[in-house]
Amino acid sequence: MTTLNIYLERISHNLKFLRSKISPKVELIAVVKANAYGHGAIKVSKHLNSLGVKKLAVASSNEGKILRESGVKSNIIVFYPDPFDLTDIIKYNLEPAVYSKKIWQNLSFSLKKQKLNNFSIHLKFNTGLNRLGFDFEEISWVKNEMIKSCFKIESVYSHLSSSEESRDNDFTNNQIAAFEKVKNEFGKINPDIKYHLLNSSGIQNYPECKYDWVRAGISLYGYTNNLEWDKNLLPAAELKTKIIQIHQLKKNQIVGYNNGWVAKEKTTIATIPIGHADGIGRYFGNTNTCVWIKNKRAPIIGNICMDMFMVNISDIDCSEGDEVVIFNAFHPANEFAESGGSISYELLSSIGNRIIRNYL
Ligand SMILES: *Cc1c(COP(=O)(O)O)cnc(C)c1O
Repeated sequence: MTTLNIYLERISHNLKFLRSKISPKVELIAVVKANAYGHGAIKVSKHLNSLGVKKLAVASSNEGKILRESGVKSNIIVFYPDPFDLTDIIKYNLEPAVYSKKIWQNLSFSLKKQKLNNFSIHLKFNTGLNRLGFDFEEISWVKNEMIKSCFKIESVYSHLSSSEESRDNDFTNNQIAAFEKVKNEFGKINPDIKYHLLNSSGIQNYPECKYDWVRAGISLYGYTNNLEWDKNLLPAAELKTKIIQIHQLKKNQIVGYNNGWVAKEKTTIATIPIGHADGIGRYFGNTNTCVWIKNKRAPIIGNICMDMFMVNISDIDCSEGDEVVIFNAFHPANEFAESGGSISYELLSSIGNRIIRNYL
């Protein structure tokens, strides 16, 4: 009943657009973490591989394992491996981001034990986001260890904190300068290492910083963080369901748990079978969030329940069984998300597993 329709050709379109923004020499890493931002990692990864994408990236080794077990053969970068359990990284031939001394040492130890050499890794540097990464001061340690390591350092990268914000911002310029410093250090000792800094918004906003690779996630699925840029992209997914029941309320009757909404007058409401267990968080209740029925706005009223929510349909001529659009190409996911104080990333990546993915 509730389905997430995924149009794979729109992902192809978005990939083609992104490739047109980078030079043919720059390689695009397709980010398929979080179940490909909700779109289904296995299907999307295989589709991207068929379009010539050779590098995929996920967040955890478990996500990489699932792709390997489904037959994905391309490079898989793991951005956030567990420093204390690298078993699956090695077992499934995944390429970890090495972001700290701890993970460097633990991975080295495991590789040496298994007599493995030349193991591909990516070095992550912190240039200001202060989330993960070696600090500049640790470079001499890294260089020292490199000499005796069993790693093949494929790339060195960093991540911007505010790639979507206006270009004349000192913070991002400082991050870029800090990354240049890191790049210079490695350039002196190993000319084969590749460099990358940009995510989706960065590709749009900092075209001069593409280096060797870029990392595109949300834009493959049709969104950036900027409505102007979004015009070139096609939202790949649409989330639809049906009205399962309609009630006529009298004045002062309530709707939902804890009497979250009270009818000020005679009201017609519809029950929509998708709730917070499906990724429609509680923060979409009691706000100005709406869904679309017969192309008209139906505001969500009361609290979101685990499996359902209710909407006011007093002004809409509709019946039980009629289609309800949560988001689609005309009512994009970022609008729905932002009306509840969320963002496209969170909404898409939270779409629950019990919702059927239908590939078109
Ligand atoms: C998720 C992620 C990306 C992709 O970001 P988008 O904004 O979705 O393009 C890129 N780099 C890293 C390190 C990430 O974790």
